Amino acid sequence: MIDVLIVGGGGAGLRAAIAVAETAPELTVAVVSKVYPMRSHTVSAEGGAAGVIGIDDSLDEHCYDTVSGGDWLCDQDAVEAFVREAPRELIQLEHWGCPWSREPDGRVAVRPFGGMKRLRTWYAADKTGFHLLHTLFQTTLRHPWIRRYDEWYVTSLVVDDGRVHGVVALDLRTGRVEAIPARAVVLATGGCGRVFPFTTNAAIKTGDGMALAYRAGAPLKDMEFVQYHPTGLPFTGILITEAARAEGGWLLNRDGYRYLQDYDLGTPTPTPKLRSMELGPRDRLSQAFVHEQDKGRTIDTPYGPVVHLDLRHLGAAKIDARIPFVRELCRSYQNLDPATDLIPVRPVVHYMMGGVHTDLDGATTIAGLYAAGETACVSINGANRLGSNSLPEILVFGRRAGLAAAAFARSHREGEPPAVRSQGDDERRRLERARDGSSVGSSGGERIADLRERMQHTLEGAAGIYRTGDALAKAVDTLADLCERAGEARVEDTSATFNTELITLLELRAMLDVARTIVACALGREESRGAHQRVDFPARDDDAYLAHSLVHRAPDGTPSVGLMPVTITCWPPGERVYGR
Ligand SMILES: Cc1cc2nc3c(=O)[nH]c(=O)nc-3n(C[C@H](O)[C@H](O)[C@H](O)COP(=O)(O)OP(=O)(O)OC[C@H]3O[C@@H](n4cnc5c(N)ncnc54)[C@H](O)[C@@H]3O)c2cc1C
Repeated sequence: MIDVLIVGGGGAGLRAAIAVAETAPELTVAVVSKVYPMRSHTVSAEGGAAGVIGIDDSLDEHCYDTVSGGDWLCDQDAVEAFVREAPRELIQLEHWGCPWSREPDGRVAVRPFGGMKRLRTWYAADKTGFHLLHTLFQTTLRHPWIRRYDEWYVTSLVVDDGRVHGVVALDLRTGRVEAIPARAVVLATGGCGRVFPFTTNAAIKTGDGMALAYRAGAPLKDMEFVQYHPTGLPFTGILITEAARAEGGWLLNRDGYRYLQDYDLGTPTPTPKLRSMELGPRDRLSQAFVHEQDKGRTIDTPYGPVVHLDLRHLGAAKIDARIPFVRELCRSYQNLDPATDLIPVRPVVHYMMGGVHTDLDGATTIAGLYAAGETACVSINGANRLGSNSLPEILVFGRRAGLAAAAFARSHREGEPPAVRSQGDDERRRLERARDGSSVGSSGGERIADLRERMQHTLEGAAGIYRTGDALAKAVDTLADLCERAGEARVEDTSATFNTELITLLELRAMLDVARTIVACALGREESRGAHQRVDFPARDDDAYLAHSLVHRAPDGTPSVGLMPVTITCWPPGERVYGR
């Protein structure tokens, strides 16, 4: 039996695996991933990772920026642990070989980032995620006893009597379905941006881990908080990193005017080097775009309205030195050169602040089950994550979850319960039925792509940058209906080997479960806070809603939403003002 089984080979999963391997070499540890680990979404992170390093900076300031950026919905004890441990993790990565960019004098280079008042974002040019994940991956290779299940898709958790006992997974190469018994399980499956039609997220970000935990009885937290990033390329949704604005890029409307000066964004910093209105927090910038659109000051394109990101004044040399990937992406996907051309951009779904409810060590409400990274909500991001806080988050809490899972596995040495085999058999039969088409109902089943598109547009319409109760209430019904229809959707491919169509169906069902929680939580929160803006309740309401949304799956499959207090340690709720 495996002691610690980690679902996910991205930054959080690999960091957890290393923590177990280094501190508890007597334990067996395995990483299950639906893609080869280096293809996890972490690889695409561009801009950087925040951690206090400058002599003019302090842990307190990083905490305050994070808490106020999150509109006071962050748990402040979690933020304090995160901020304290982030620099240590980034230095640890350096020791494992991560090539952080340097100042000419050899010190680690740091850049400004949205909503951060100090320079504290470490970076490796604008390919930070690639280098970070590579460093973690090569470090796992130093521990050959970390067992890997590459291209295995986890379909369910084995839970018996309130405790996890492993997972059931499908080997994509052979189609074999196996129950893998484990003493502790860490979910590190990333986010779920794909529930929306226009996103920076890779196709694999379908919220599987959130759905696995939710179906097994663990609550999800703060699912209504969906982050739009203000600068995605139209059509593809490819991200143009905030680093482009950190290096001095401007946002211009159709009149060539830096429109952000008209909005309450301020400058997030007292130092002149950071004085740029373009570095406001992401929620405010995305909201400003909608107001520009309403005023008719955006530019229409076949792929929706856009504004322009202007990097021309930076010059080719600086662009090549600091943000070469931006130039590469613009040339390949937009057929333009940012050294001479304006880049069309529009807000794009980027990140989920919510996820599986955990404590500071990644523990969920199910014994032996942990979660870390974007799939989890610990919660340091509150109502709006600050750019560059997620990479250090996956390191800090990936490590913590790994250590806690190892401790759990050490103290629970019982053998495999019968539930592992019986739940494995049930799941095998269920998947075989889906694959051979016998689960298709009398309607003959609908196409997976049609249902997915319907789900995505429902989410965009109801749970986008601005929301209303009416639209959300309608979306609740539409999604319930889609869920039922997805239960009977058609799989035409009956082969066992790399049956990606079957996986697509399983992902759709996971996304629908997650989508229903997003909409239910958004409907329940009758206020506006951070990324959750209700047109019908425009003000923040601390009396009623300085609280997390906690959503359970009711026995009939519908989401049931409650509230849970926020932990406040040092920073009482205040107004979000920048440039203090
Ligand atoms: C384009 C882009 C740029 C970004 N830039 C930055 C940045 O500069 N700074 C920053 O702080 N943050 C950034 N972020 C956010 C950050 O990169 C992510 O939040 C973070 O990397 C998530 O890491 P993770 O380990 O939680 O998940 P991921 O890296 O997404 O890994 C998830 C893993 O789970 C596995 N998995 C999922 N479902 C299953 C299943 N059913 N069975 C088996 N395995 C499964 C996958 O195979 C994968 O290995 C960016 C995000 C994007 C999309």
